[in-house]
Amino acid sequence: MLSCKHTIDQGTDYLDKELGFWRKVEMKMHLMICVNCRRYMKQLKQTIMMLSKGQFKKPSDQQVERLKKEYQDVSTDK
Ligand SMILES: [Zn+2]
Repeated sequence: MLSCKHTIDQGTDYLDKELGFWRKVEMKMHLMICVNCRRYMKQLKQTIMMLSKGQFKKPSDQQVERLKKEYQDVSTDK
């Protein structure tokens, strides 16, 4: 089973369809059981859509890092 960290790290590749078949299956499995990662992926997708104005474009590493940081702040909420 993938960890949350792995899922988040592979988030953009997943949306960009760069992952292999089994990786994709693993991601889907994790997203099915993990609300946090589901929320992160949704946020990631929205951010990408916003940045690229409707067309899928991979965000820069900087943008991904910022999103990850935001997500981690949220998920480690006291
Ligand atoms: Zn997770």
